[in-house]
Amino acid sequence: MNAYREDASSVRHCFRHGITNKDSGSLAANYSSQKQRNFNKGSLFSDLLSTMAAVFRIKHPKTILWFFGICFLLVFYITISSFPSDEPCNCKHQYDESLTSGGNLGTGSMSHPEDPHKMAILIPFRDRFEELLEFAPYINSFLNKQKRNHHIFVINQIDNLRFNRASLLNIGYLESASASDYIAMHDVDLLPMNTELPYQFPETGPYHVAAPHLHPRYHYPTFIGGILLISRKDFANVDGLSNKYWGWGLEDDELYARLTEAQLTISRPGNLTTGTKDTFKHIHDRRIRKRDMIKCYNQQEVTRKRDRETGLSTLRYHVQNRKEMTIQGAPVSIINVILECNKAITPWCDCTENIGNTKTKRKPGERSNDVIVPKLDRRRDVSVDG
Ligand code: UDP
Ligand code: MN
Repeated sequence: MNAYREDASSVRHCFRHGITNKDSGSLAANYSSQKQRNFNKGSLFSDLLSTMAAVFRIKHPKTILWFFGICFLLVFYITISSFPSDEPCNCKHQYDESLTSGGNLGTGSMSHPEDPHKMAILIPFRDRFEELLEFAPYINSFLNKQKRNHHIFVINQIDNLRFNRASLLNIGYLESASASDYIAMHDVDLLPMNTELPYQFPETGPYHVAAPHLHPRYHYPTFIGGILLISRKDFANVDGLSNKYWGWGLEDDELYARLTEAQLTISRPGNLTTGTKDTFKHIHDRRIRKRDMIKCYNQQEVTRKRDRETGLSTLRYHVQNRKEMTIQGAPVSIINVILECNKAITPWCDCTENIGNTKTKRKPGERSNDVIVPKLDRRRDVSVDG
């Protein structure tokens, strides 16, 4: 029994300080004095070890220590590796770096060495599954035919607030940082049918693919919604989009004001043989996909004006998790996000308590170019297709 206790003490010494030649030499030399010390201390622990060694007929109690040590490390490793990695966080700039090399992109979307650029297709998204199933494989093969390096990011809003297309695009920009040098803000329900529509790097400024003379529904001259290509540099320059637009509409008109104020030239496709009926397919049945036109609190008053306060730099959100999937050969990254709303600034992010407008007086000296609402001739500028 005593012999086991002595060995256990040596093992404890080795755990703490490691075995050296000096140690092993002195182990023998100190054997008898240690024996005496250990015997005197008679710790409960070494008694326990010795008893266990006796019970299991193990000659060296240190074998038991090793056994428990390895068990402990094993349990520790299993515990650490089973911690959930999907915790909510303010996860800016955390997207998988390997996207840059196309490492985990599945077939083909970044496999065009002749294209020096990389485009992130950003889809602001909520509850449009059928449209996505049609959109993803379609745009993937459309862009592969154009030999464009690209990757599809679906920014899925999973909170209970009203839909915020602009904030989702801001998130898409941040989350695709390592995967792109330009972005396409792309509605999920708009499919380019004319193969001549170019999705090239927007060298000379933003490029509006879904131009008013081609879009199936919106035809007013300052329209820049639907599909807009913009370099990361230009997007950052204007601080992205305003985060004040909850519900349908006007966020793209506010972006138009940002772009023109920054003196960026917006270009559009010319010389196409197709028009508003056959350039795009708009998969949008308005009876099923109702637009959220509700206004509450002072939403109307605030959102009709240029926002110089919010944008990329003030965006607050959490990434709940990320999922990689392939839809009929098209690699897609789904980013499930929770937006934050400061109800002191934009109470209309939730209209359940208060429907209807609170009219506020126009401030004296309000600059006329602060109003971003386009003047529309409903019959000429908006078609009733969806
Ligand atoms: N969207 C969405 N879920 C919604 C509302 C909008 O995913 O509940 C996205 C989707 O990408 C859609 C885009 O925002 O294509 C523009 O919205 P919508 O089609 O309603 O606008 P439209 O341009 O047809 O007026
Ligand atoms: Mn639509």
